[in-house]
Amino acid sequence: MRPSWAEISLSQLAENYRFLCGIAGADTDLLAVIKADAYGHGMGLCAPALASAGAQWMGVTSVEEAVALRRLCPEQRILVISGLWFGQASEVLQNRLTPVVWEAFHLEELEKATRDAGLAPQSFPVHLELDTGMSRQGVPLDGDELESLLRRWKKDSPLQLEGVMTHLSSADELQSGVTEEQFSLLRTGMRRVFSLGFRPRWMHAGASATVAGCETIEALRGIAKEMGTQLMLRPGLALYGYLPRFEPQEPLIVAEGRKICLPILTWKTKVMSLRTIPAGRAAGYNHTFVASQPTRIATVPLGYADGLNRLLSNRFCLLVRGRRAPIAGRVSMDHVMLDVTDIAGVEIGDEVVVIGQQGSESITAYDHADAVGTIPWEILCDIGPRIPRIPV
Ligand SMILES: *Cc1c(COP(=O)(O)O)cnc(C)c1O
Repeated sequence: MRPSWAEISLSQLAENYRFLCGIAGADTDLLAVIKADAYGHGMGLCAPALASAGAQWMGVTSVEEAVALRRLCPEQRILVISGLWFGQASEVLQNRLTPVVWEAFHLEELEKATRDAGLAPQSFPVHLELDTGMSRQGVPLDGDELESLLRRWKKDSPLQLEGVMTHLSSADELQSGVTEEQFSLLRTGMRRVFSLGFRPRWMHAGASATVAGCETIEALRGIAKEMGTQLMLRPGLALYGYLPRFEPQEPLIVAEGRKICLPILTWKTKVMSLRTIPAGRAAGYNHTFVASQPTRIATVPLGYADGLNRLLSNRFCLLVRGRRAPIAGRVSMDHVMLDVTDIAGVEIGDEVVVIGQQGSESITAYDHADAVGTIPWEILCDIGPRIPRIPV
């Protein structure tokens, strides 16, 4: 096997899940978000581990992801966060998926499929999304779209409105007031749903920032309680051991959490070739690295096709023998070169850490994200399909 792989700690995943359950409290449910192949960690490994840790609800983006998840987890509830596309309703039924709905066509497709299948009234659960400020999906709350949508919902419909959800845009900004505005829209939206005669069992909102930051869970609990619904939170990133950063200041509980909730992924490769180049010799495409002294170059079988961002060229380090080795020259599609001149005794086969710890040094997905101007979510999702995910 080409020596580039990611080790996934399933025991730490279970630990992180339990940690988040502890913050949410016994009266609040958690939905484990495992879209995008469990944020690049491998759904095939993570979903069964989360199920064993007690996860009852899991969330993915599409019907395609949900069908794959159903094969892994026959018992769990599966929320399809971005609803369904035309022609997918029968798959939703066959796989007992729970789609989020907000467009008229979602209801039409599901109505038809459930009636054709002869399902009893109110027997097939779906969740409704309200748009409280993301403007991405969900029913807008400005006009009467909500009323028009829900009036199409006949009493004898096989569809049952089991949950109402929304998504927060700025839960990591603790003083911007945006979340409070979204909560107030959520409260009035919930009242409008109830006044049309619906009695959803669950209300859910809040991703990692809400769970980890903790401060706004009480407010959500207040709305859920007022409506007599069960509160559910939907963390994704935090399951994998990365807690969001907060503005303007991190709540104390997050600093505590960072000691318990730890990254479950370690990304490794090995030195595949070594050479010493003289002063004045260049390395890599377009000769952006030129040796200023005799320089020991270690080549590593990992490149931008594997998710090692090309913007890291000449400006990031990987770990070799417990030391930081600078990237020398451009990251290529399948390779990267490291300057290991200052690291004694490097040999072919030496382990190289891309994300994770080695000796007393460590590199996180945050370090990668900061270096290329993005967020750890994207760094983790970018780890490519050529990198086998190995459970440890
Ligand atoms: C991705 C997603 C989440 C999880 O977000 P994290 O920030 O990764 O915790 C929750 N809810 C919805 C609707 C999402 O799309």
